Amino acid sequence: MKNLIPVIGLEVHIELNTATKMFCRCRAYHFGEKPNTNVCPVCLGLPGALPSANKKAIWDTIKFGLALNSQISSFSKFDRKHYFYPDLPKGYQISQYDLPFCTKGTFTLKNGKVINIRRIHLEEDTGKLIHKTVDGKKVSLVDYNRSGVPLMEMVTEPDFTDPSDVDEFLKEIQLIVKYLGISDADMEKGSMRLEANISLKEEDQGLPDYKIELKNINSFRFLSKALQAEIVRQKQILETGSKPVQETRGYDEVKNTTFSQRTKEEAQDYRYMPEPDIPPITINEKVVLRIKNKLPDLPNQKRKIFKKLNLSEHYIETLVSDKNRALYFDEAINIAKDHNISAKEIASVMVNQNMDLKYPEPAGLIKKLLEIQKADYASQKEVKGAVNVVLKQNTKAVDDYKNGKTQVVGFLIGQIQKELKGKGEVKLVQEILRKKLEE
Ligand code: ADP
Ligand code: ZN
Ligand code: MG
Repeated sequence: MKNLIPVIGLEVHIELNTATKMFCRCRAYHFGEKPNTNVCPVCLGLPGALPSANKKAIWDTIKFGLALNSQISSFSKFDRKHYFYPDLPKGYQISQYDLPFCTKGTFTLKNGKVINIRRIHLEEDTGKLIHKTVDGKKVSLVDYNRSGVPLMEMVTEPDFTDPSDVDEFLKEIQLIVKYLGISDADMEKGSMRLEANISLKEEDQGLPDYKIELKNINSFRFLSKALQAEIVRQKQILETGSKPVQETRGYDEVKNTTFSQRTKEEAQDYRYMPEPDIPPITINEKVVLRIKNKLPDLPNQKRKIFKKLNLSEHYIETLVSDKNRALYFDEAINIAKDHNISAKEIASVMVNQNMDLKYPEPAGLIKKLLEIQKADYASQKEVKGAVNVVLKQNTKAVDDYKNGKTQVVGFLIGQIQKELKGKGEVKLVQEILRKKLEE
């Protein structure tokens, strides 16, 4: 059998951190709240309720699309996607079908390979089911606080061939979202959720006619492990001449294997139809351009800027991996420009000593660094002593200076620094030396 190559495509959901929900004015924040307290007729799906779209959520989605080099649709609409489940009170989800806000994005991996992003659309989140035992009876409860919270969905083309590329992509996507400030993209809280589709193909073959969907995996590390386990499992099946059954599989962390959750031979019919209660949306190209020009620095731009400061890869990654840290560093180097403190010094204390945690304000950190520097300098008395010693030992140089050869100053400063073991504060040494020479 020929070499088998993994084919992987991703579907990523990201909950937006807008103040209000997608189609009503209920508060969108829903973590740790008393169940069913942030609800209204719209997000409960009561008859006659009229949805109206959250503009902020639309602009946030467009920002995300722009960050991923997407085309922004000038004309877009919402659609109803029907399915029945107790956490979906209307019996349909308002989503986008054929006219998503963003299409044809790209993402370049560190190795230069480009991942194509098929689409980014906006939809509403569902409620949450809670299964538990009350008085010895198994019950299922439903909490609609999350119902109607804005949810972006990004779908990539099946362009990944390696689980480690998937890992790099997802971590960077999470970072981009945080830099944009549109979501906390917290895997544990479920504000970022992953699904991966995987199949294996022979080198010269097209896209396989089956795919396995990996679902309900709540960490990047487990997704990597699940993909690796799935590659091994599918290889074994294909090598016996059969084909893996198209299905949804979960991941068992303890056994490090995937397991069948639901077979999905047929495509589900969602009976998509245009959402009649929300007018189609036209998006002005000029406004999009304005938003594009106002996007904050993204992680890659920060990396480029920090690279110019000659920082090591390790320092750059540690600073960039946290938006607040990167901004803190920016401000600190800006303040330090007026002092004799290098970007490298600041990066070093931030990364190695967590000094940014001890000094919440960059100005405080710089002040501390200046104090440390000062404490380490030779005292004025010590500088005077060293100047006297050097001048006594170099009477010829002193005579040269008095005869107009002022360039000997550099030599004398070098000798004084040697005497002070390099701890002379340059300005002070210069000042005392000149005074002595002019005497
Ligand atoms: P569906 O119609 O079942 O939703 P799509 O073609 O829309 O399938 O793709 C859904 C996701 O699955 C996308 O992320 C895509 O990249 C990925 N995908 C499609 N075909 C394959 C395949 N043969 N192997 C792995 N992933 C695939
Ligand atoms: Zn509501
Ligand atoms: Mg969806």
